[in-house]
Amino acid sequence: MKLFPSLTRLAAIAAASIVAAACSGSGGFSYSIAYDISFQSDDHYICAEMTYVPENLDRGDVRFSLPVWAPGYYVIVDYPKYLTDFAACDSSGKPLSWRKSGKNVWIVETADTVKVSYRIYADAWSIAESRVQGDIAFIAPNGVFMYADGDTDHPVDITFRLPEQWTRISTALPRDGEGVFHAPDFDVLYDSPMLIGNHYSRTYTHEGHDYEFALETPEGFEDTPMAEDFFKFVSQCSLIFGGVPYDSYHLLLMREGRGGLEHQASQACYTAGKWDFATREEYLEELRFFCHEYFHNYNVKAIRPIELGPFDYDREVFTPMLWVSEGFTCYYESLLLVRAGVQTMEEHLDYLSGFIRDLETSEGQKHMSLRQSSYDIWLNFFNTAANGRDVRISYYVKGPVMGLVFDAVIRSMTCDERCLDDLMRLLYDRYYKGKGRGFTEGEFWTAAEEVAGGVLEDLRLYVDTTRELDYNAILEPVGITLDSNGWVLRAIE
Ligand SMILES: [Zn+2]
Repeated sequence: MKLFPSLTRLAAIAAASIVAAACSGSGGFSYSIAYDISFQSDDHYICAEMTYVPENLDRGDVRFSLPVWAPGYYVIVDYPKYLTDFAACDSSGKPLSWRKSGKNVWIVETADTVKVSYRIYADAWSIAESRVQGDIAFIAPNGVFMYADGDTDHPVDITFRLPEQWTRISTALPRDGEGVFHAPDFDVLYDSPMLIGNHYSRTYTHEGHDYEFALETPEGFEDTPMAEDFFKFVSQCSLIFGGVPYDSYHLLLMREGRGGLEHQASQACYTAGKWDFATREEYLEELRFFCHEYFHNYNVKAIRPIELGPFDYDREVFTPMLWVSEGFTCYYESLLLVRAGVQTMEEHLDYLSGFIRDLETSEGQKHMSLRQSSYDIWLNFFNTAANGRDVRISYYVKGPVMGLVFDAVIRSMTCDERCLDDLMRLLYDRYYKGKGRGFTEGEFWTAAEEVAGGVLEDLRLYVDTTRELDYNAILEPVGITLDSNGWVLRAIE
């Protein structure tokens, strides 16, 4: 597994692709691997043909694996359940023997060339699963592309064979002049969804970088200030972190549905499906949603718990710190729109009040800590048991509350000289840029105490236990008060 300790992880793709082209099947790697992808859109199928060419035939059988989950979507999807018609042959078309090993591994007899083919049923409306429907295809790559020999570091080329009337491929992956897409490794491939078809696409340039808005339902989009407001948010992120961690960024925004997933240099979201919002709050909700996924470029893709990469795509990856990755992102998605002049402070406090109200009116907060809600997400992502609110909390609810609490406590302890931005920047600079890795739980708390200039024992109890939050003791020193009758935050006049 490769880590890119610099700011320009995706910028490195182009260079890495050149290396890949030079090394594939010659020295640097012991095999080359390339995909041909086509579509049966009427039947909702993606057809994959993979060509694997080993350097020598002494290596024995070849092991092909399909992930069972996708980073950011903390549930076992079991992608192989969508796979059918697996077949393998050599360069002359002679069938090769193969067998399954577990639910997501195919072991194939080796040959001078191993050609593997299979079809993926793609009719899901989930942001982590693929959909081929009429004149559009959304590819969630984890469910489509197998990696070989347990080696996710290997570069891979992808050629798409599109139906005649399809004209566009929107993705963060770079392509060469022949229309072949290159991923320097499978981690980048799996982090680069694709929207393919005839959809609307418009590219804007903002502060020296290109941003593609690829929309499945574009009508009315250009009449809204959505792109302009999004870029104001982008600028606020750049002010905190001193730049952006990509060359270009792609928003793959699909028809009506819910759910978005963050990716390095892109985001994929099901949206409101329309751009004529009935109320300002509806507009802000949609804008915050895109800003949330964007902020993940920093917080989770770069600033990340150490467990979140390199990934084991075969099984769950447990971390007690998703409340930082998701909760602080929920906090910033709103706060930075205030700094950008898009939202008022009152709107921001109303938004945060909703989280506090949700938390404080749930019995679950007395039974589950924030830390535990992170660790146990693999059990609870789609757990709809009727007792949910009685025994569990969500880090999407208490997490942003803790974002506010961290910001307030750091400001109070440093006489307003530092804030949560300083902690996020320290983690970004020290662990992502400096060490090219995530942080441990201990390193997070050490960094937080370093920024605050003192011990954060109370905050640790708010995270690690079910201890009740003393809101006004925390917030009044920074000019915010909570009316606990309706759980409403207000700025102190
Ligand atoms: Zn998120």
